[in-house]
Amino acid sequence: MSNIFLKYLLALVLLTFFSTSFAEPKEEADEKPIVIMIGIDGLRADTLERMPAPYLRSLADSGVRASMIPAMPTKTFVNFYSLATGLHPKNHGFVSNYPYDRKIGRKFNRQTDVSDPKWWGGEPIWITAEKQGVKAATYFWVGSEVEIDGVRPSFWKPYQQDKDYAERVEEVLGWLALPEKERPRLITLYFSAVDSAAHDFGVGSAQERDAVAKVDQHIGDLLHGLNKLGLEPQTNIVVVADHGMVNLSDQRVINIDPWLDLSTFIIPDWSDERSSVHAPFLNLYAAPVSVDTAYTKLHKAHPNMRVLRRGNFPANYHFDHPQRGPDLMLLADPGWSIYASRDKRKPEPMAKLGRPVATHGYDNQDPLMHAIFIASGPAFNKKLTTAPFDNIEIYGLLACALKIKPSNTDGDIKNVQYLMAQDC
Ligand code: AMP
Ligand code: ZN
Ligand code: ZN
Repeated sequence: MSNIFLKYLLALVLLTFFSTSFAEPKEEADEKPIVIMIGIDGLRADTLERMPAPYLRSLADSGVRASMIPAMPTKTFVNFYSLATGLHPKNHGFVSNYPYDRKIGRKFNRQTDVSDPKWWGGEPIWITAEKQGVKAATYFWVGSEVEIDGVRPSFWKPYQQDKDYAERVEEVLGWLALPEKERPRLITLYFSAVDSAAHDFGVGSAQERDAVAKVDQHIGDLLHGLNKLGLEPQTNIVVVADHGMVNLSDQRVINIDPWLDLSTFIIPDWSDERSSVHAPFLNLYAAPVSVDTAYTKLHKAHPNMRVLRRGNFPANYHFDHPQRGPDLMLLADPGWSIYASRDKRKPEPMAKLGRPVATHGYDNQDPLMHAIFIASGPAFNKKLTTAPFDNIEIYGLLACALKIKPSNTDGDIKNVQYLMAQDC
């Protein structure tokens, strides 16, 4: 064997040795992805076109971005739980913020039922993660206060609307600063300010703008913190909203009081202060005879209100849960509101009521109801803006980014594989 050949062989052996030993730590970093899902209530899909939000903009510019089609009805609990589980409302059970359950015999109670598994169907992504040994932490999310299959996120908190935003971000960074063995790799973080400002002051108001700027600044603080911790290279940031928002008007009110006495109906959404007199939709539960009467009286009552009977809901609504699907759904056109008072009050001007001046809950195909989606990080494609997709696909994207096995959902990762930089 020639000397040159021996040298060549030795070089090859050394090269292989060094390349594998140096490649290992990198591979390990790649194998331990972190996902932070940030939920911004009511952040409409077109927000970045309407106002400055430099940190959200930079995430969108570097990663992937799309409008997201929410589940029906386009309300908060319905959609944050679809995002978490990948399920349609007919399978997870939240057919409104306050579902009524025929078998349980009452409506959902926010004080007591948030931790009762019988209200919560499916498997949220943090449960899937924990079952596979990936620690999860929820800084608020609809459905995060309940034990499912005996499992909870390693870190979670009872919902607290007025919790300071800077403290939320600091605590999230505290979790990320933990030693690797204790550190959660799936984190959720939730902000309600944009939804509240838009409800109370309107889409396009200075208050909505300020709320977006405030949330954006806190996201900026989170990104700086990640950078300081050196965790940026393995972290995926996924920003989602539950629905959009549209302004209401006193000129677009459908007063159904003269048509029908609703006192014999169960109307769970009347628990919702904002929806009680100016509702985007009303789910009605009643005996068949009352349903027939209501349908006959209402179905041609107003050109801007649809009256949908159980069994005839549009196919893409997917919200006819066996125990919770309403007998009737009254659905206003976007920007219209249904006025139905319990006490036959005359419709009062919105300015006098003070709120709401904007709302959501309307048809999920309307672009004004579409929600923002931005994702940036090693698992996601770069500099890509794509067509709208359904929010039930988010669960699969999160599972793919975390490299865990998803449970069965109504989504199909093939529909959104193009958003990813890795095979799912
Ligand atoms: P909506 O009536 O659909 O606009 O609901 C928005 C409101 O939902 C927010 O202002 C919060 O008060 C409430 N909310 C959001 N997440 C949670 C949660 N995890 N637990 C209880 N309430 C929540
Ligand atoms: Zn919401
Ligand atoms: Zn809202």
